[in-house]
Amino acid sequence: MLYACKNCGGNIVYEPGRKKLVCPYCDSEESWEIKTGIDMNICPSCNGRLELGTYTSATKCQFCGNYVIQEERMREDYEPQLIIPFQIAKAEVVELIKKEVEDRRYVPASFLDEKNLKTIEGTYVPFWVYDYDVHYNYEAIGRKIKTWTKGKSVFTETSEYRVVREMDMNFEMIPADASRAMPNDVMDLIEPYTYADIQDFDMKYISGFLSEFYNDGAMMFEPRATSRTKKDAKTIVGNTIKDYTMVTPVKDSPNVQRNQIRYALFPVWVYRYRYGSKEYPLYVNGQTGKVVGEIPFDYGKAYKQGALWGFLFFLVSCLSLKVTGIPVWLSFLPLLLIGLAIMFVFVLLASMTKKGKKTVDVTTYVDAGKSRILHQEDTYIRTYVTEHNIKKYKNMLKSLT
Ligand SMILES: [Zn+2]
Ligand SMILES: [Zn+2]
Repeated sequence: MLYACKNCGGNIVYEPGRKKLVCPYCDSEESWEIKTGIDMNICPSCNGRLELGTYTSATKCQFCGNYVIQEERMREDYEPQLIIPFQIAKAEVVELIKKEVEDRRYVPASFLDEKNLKTIEGTYVPFWVYDYDVHYNYEAIGRKIKTWTKGKSVFTETSEYRVVREMDMNFEMIPADASRAMPNDVMDLIEPYTYADIQDFDMKYISGFLSEFYNDGAMMFEPRATSRTKKDAKTIVGNTIKDYTMVTPVKDSPNVQRNQIRYALFPVWVYRYRYGSKEYPLYVNGQTGKVVGEIPFDYGKAYKQGALWGFLFFLVSCLSLKVTGIPVWLSFLPLLLIGLAIMFVFVLLASMTKKGKKTVDVTTYVDAGKSRILHQEDTYIRTYVTEHNIKKYKNMLKSLT
């Protein structure tokens, strides 16, 4: 099916800026009717055969360019409960990408070609979102350590405490993407999505975008969500333990209970740029505008620049030799080799600046967890002082690090 404009018959699409269905041809708002094809493989507008992947639930007709929704793949068992509609329009995505490369000199010229940028498409990625209750039993020995030196000795005074925390935590909507086509590391980087914009699912948000439905059941993707929850729960417990030099866990057992699971669609803009024989997909979070992906490096451009420097070196040194009267032909070959070396070093240095967007700020959902401390104990156990020879103490420290 597709959303057709009641006024002009054009394909009416969801516009993030206006948060409405808008006709790109006559600018009508929210004035649509549903047009259905003979089956989901046929474009309702031009009757062309659609190229559908196994998990495609919304696509763009390759013949007429209209956005067609495979509603059978969005109904009943396949109906999402939640959606974060696109918040960022294509024009803004283009600006974000331009900004991303503005201080890179060796980006292929065609990277920012209008023709290529036009191929950017928004796609809804399926996610399972899980709610968890965590009951955390944590016990540790906390040590406060003071050191001082006197004469040839180092004294350490260690005070030990029994640290106990019993906490209840609730995590809401811990996400795990349910698409095999989307690389996990990309999804980890493109998050977080914030839930301020989340809505009950409505088909109209899909018009104008591509979409996929979940590639497998919620159980298949759950390990990612539970390990994330355990990690965040641990951070939350850790945040309640302060003022110790050292904490050694004795008991560290989070009991994770799953509550509900919901199926949601989250927005991602994708720019599939091809350079040489390789594709450089760039992903932009359709809600926050965060850009993730590798930006191609134009070696041709860098070699030209490097060759220029190498040649300049060669020319200048030949000329200066001529001035000093040393026969140029004697040093011709070595100078040429140095010139070439300059070119290669230049390209090497330039390519080191191409750094892909592989940052380490992997999302945590610590803020999403509400927590209560049920039992808290920091009980003093004992204090002991030890004496070490300075030299031995230093060696001991060395062996520790
Ligand atoms: Zn119209
Ligand atoms: Zn068509």
